[in-house]
Amino acid sequence: MAFKEREKPFRLLVMESLVNRMTLSRDDRNKYANWVKGYNGEVQFDSITEQLKCESIVLNDLYLTVRGKKFQIDTLLITAKCLYIYEVKNFEGEYYYENEKMYYERTKKEVFDPLYQIKNAESALRQLVDQMGYNLAIKKQIVFLNRDFALFQAPRNSGILLPGMLKSHFSMVNGISETLNQNHYRFAEEIKPMHMEDFSLHNVPYYRKELLKKGVTCFDCGSFIDCFTKKETCTCQYCGKKEVVSQTIMRHVQEYKRLFPNERITVSAICEWCDNQLSVRRIKYIFN
Ligand SMILES: [Zn+2]
Repeated sequence: MAFKEREKPFRLLVMESLVNRMTLSRDDRNKYANWVKGYNGEVQFDSITEQLKCESIVLNDLYLTVRGKKFQIDTLLITAKCLYIYEVKNFEGEYYYENEKMYYERTKKEVFDPLYQIKNAESALRQLVDQMGYNLAIKKQIVFLNRDFALFQAPRNSGILLPGMLKSHFSMVNGISETLNQNHYRFAEEIKPMHMEDFSLHNVPYYRKELLKKGVTCFDCGSFIDCFTKKETCTCQYCGKKEVVSQTIMRHVQEYKRLFPNERITVSAICEWCDNQLSVRRIKYIFN
């Protein structure tokens, strides 16, 4: 188990609600699909680090600050040899490097270079590690894990791991026989609470409560559920997934809080948010 687990990013959760409750532009829908894809890639990568056999500590999704500058690390792996930082990309299709820039083959358009991104993260982490008073080597790796990804003219020894290189990379990591010392554990304990959740809504489209469709949505497929029984569970009529009603209420309270952080959460506000589909008595009971 990871020492710090990954959570779904805040802006992705907000976007999930917006996708269900309002009509988004094509651009926004594409952006959302890319975020989901990126997140799924990270989760897929977690299943690889979970299987590591060597003595190590895994911290997923760190959002840190050094000297007033914020930076983010998809995965930090602490081994006796060094700290590995991984930037995980779930890109699909053919890409190429030219004059230290990365391009998408089909459109020949430049894309945001992950090498640049991870170099910044590496430099920021080095400063932070130094500030914390540790002397630990850092190695940066960019992981492309989609099997349908190809990259031409990639700079060598730049830390890029293509899908076909993951197996040998992790068998090398698993081959680290030295054990972690007190320093490594202390470092993990100290850096974990430095993570601050990113609540920014950068790139999230503008929304207002009046513009959002009210009602109860399915936790799995996002469809609006409108036929309820008096039972303890509610069932989605589209995907068939079941959820305990108290959980459904809690989930909608959390969603409301996330979307409208400045609004007071009252029983009537939640009733309205759920389009009066849930019993007031139950909502009151949950509130108590
Ligand atoms: Zn459903």
